[in-house]
Amino acid sequence: MEIKKIGVVGAGAMGNGIAQVAAQIGCDVVMRDIEMRFVEGGMKNIDRFLSKSVEKGKMDIKEKENIMGRIKGTLDMADLKDVDFVVEAVIEDLDLKKSVFKELDELCRPEVILSTNTSSMSITEIAASTKRPDKVCGMHFFNPVPLMRLVEIIRGYLTSDETIKITTELSQKMGKTTIEVKKDSPGFVVNRIMIPHILEAIKIVEEGIASIEDVDKAVKNGLNYPMGPFELMDLTGIDVANFVTDYLYKELNKENKWVAPNLLKTMVRAGNFGKKVGKGWYK
Ligand code: NAD
Repeated sequence: MEIKKIGVVGAGAMGNGIAQVAAQIGCDVVMRDIEMRFVEGGMKNIDRFLSKSVEKGKMDIKEKENIMGRIKGTLDMADLKDVDFVVEAVIEDLDLKKSVFKELDELCRPEVILSTNTSSMSITEIAASTKRPDKVCGMHFFNPVPLMRLVEIIRGYLTSDETIKITTELSQKMGKTTIEVKKDSPGFVVNRIMIPHILEAIKIVEEGIASIEDVDKAVKNGLNYPMGPFELMDLTGIDVANFVTDYLYKELNKENKWVAPNLLKTMVRAGNFGKKVGKGWYK
């Protein structure tokens, strides 16, 4: 089956990026959120990104208009009933994701693949809320979606080879490099490596060993990373880092290394989620 129309659930940081890359390969896209301000915010973000590409001479204005014209924002889940493929990108909340998948399962044609952009959670458990667990997989993009090359394709316990193949081919068509995560395991590959590293960075600041600026400087200049852990959290969401940490703690034997430092929890309690709210480690 040719994938001509893609449904994206969630128009936030990840959802609008996914909608953009899907429209850039010529697919029609329906992007759904729960409030108009989120849908409009998502559309604005895509417009801003594409306008910059036009300014830089990477695309002409006609191409930008064509891409924008292929994306329809909506509040109505029923608008996804005729899509050929779905990527879910609502917030990192397992119960919410399960209820979204149940709704999608009732709405979409039985052959449609339902993928999730979860950063850490069980694909098998999300799939179990549908009657098509063989057609559910993880399709984990990175932030910002149009620029980051990797997509982790994650196999749930019942995911079929065909689902993995189709999702891999679609990601590659979007210009992405893919890896297969063969076992459904919390945090998959990238976050399993990254979370201990950012928790350690927060602990270093909490213990007064070095400043936020100097930890970032150290990681960029000493490890040759393009961004320090605090800059990265400001970009990707301090709340997201906290959700993922708590989930890994719960799922990976409650080992001490996955305990969220108090400073991380305090930032979240204060609503300092990073760039998306204009307040984070650097402001
Ligand atoms: P976000 O908070 O920016 O956006 C989530 C959006 O989902 C919000 O606009 C919210 O209104 C919407 N939403 C909530 N319930 C909904 C529903 N029932 N239907 C439709 N929309 C609904 O979050 P985000 O950073 O885009 O993260 C989305 C997902 O992607 C999460 O699972 C997250 O773990 C994952 N992810 C995030 C990053 C990152 O760097 N931020 C990277 C990779 C994966």
